[in-house]
Amino acid sequence: SERLKGKTAIVTGGGSGIGSAIATLFAQQGAQLALIDLNLDASQPLAETLQRETGLRCIALQADVTDEAALKRCVAETEERLGPVDILINCAGINVFRDPLTMEDADWQRCLAVNLKGPWNGIRAVLPGMVARQYGHIVNIASVHGHKIIPGAFPYPVAKHGLIGLTRSLGVEYASQGIRINSISPGLIMTPAAEAWLESCDDPTAERQRQTDILPCKRIGEPVEVAYTALFLASDEARFINATDIVMDGGRSQL
Ligand code: NAD
Repeated sequence: SERLKGKTAIVTGGGSGIGSAIATLFAQQGAQLALIDLNLDASQPLAETLQRETGLRCIALQADVTDEAALKRCVAETEERLGPVDILINCAGINVFRDPLTMEDADWQRCLAVNLKGPWNGIRAVLPGMVARQYGHIVNIASVHGHKIIPGAFPYPVAKHGLIGLTRSLGVEYASQGIRINSISPGLIMTPAAEAWLESCDDPTAERQRQTDILPCKRIGEPVEVAYTALFLASDEARFINATDIVMDGGRSQL
């Protein structure tokens, strides 16, 4: 079935990992897509492949989500080429794990700019159109770090707590206008970013095993699993779900 038939979706961070999985599933479910990523190397070929395989329009646009004006231009270009934006998935994000005392101020700034201001920039760019049409679904990719404090990850959790706060606050503000804003908080998901983090550990093999063993389900998550949750939240099936967060971490945060 095509659960997003006739819809137009923007996915930030669509060039890798969770964003790519969301883009792929959304295209299979009938959505036209604009992938916004800093890096076109992966998002451009993915857009071409999805367009070829589905026959639906799929474009790749380059922007840094911290650049509000650039995101506005991307949304304008998407509306021009694909039509009104029904769905925004804010997935672009970066891991910034630092020692609080020795961290450079630039790391703090970049962490908050990409992971928190970035989603707000995306939302701000699509909101006027969504308000005018009284319709829109927005999903922010937060993290289990936005709920449970796992030592050694500062200041990333600060941004992800903020993103969940942004979701709840704006979800309430726009609820009466046909716009739903929710977030997903994944636990560890095997993506290029997660691989890079594992490789940076002193003993990557041991760390991978440890990360697997501490999970109640004894396996690390897959990007497509986050995509299924995003599909549900971005579809009309979730029309009574608003201003909330879905944790999907294989049960880890219950321990
Ligand atoms: P990834 O690095 O594989 O993909 C992220 C994509 O975002 C890349 O294509 C990158 O180019 C793009 N991007 C980064 N900064 C950008 C910017 N400033 N502007 C535009 N694009 C930018 O990462 P991933 O693991 O797929 O993570 C995706 C999201 O999921 C992030 O928000 C991350 O915090 C969140 N998350 C990931 C995990 C995990 O374990 N992988 C767990 C919880 C949450």
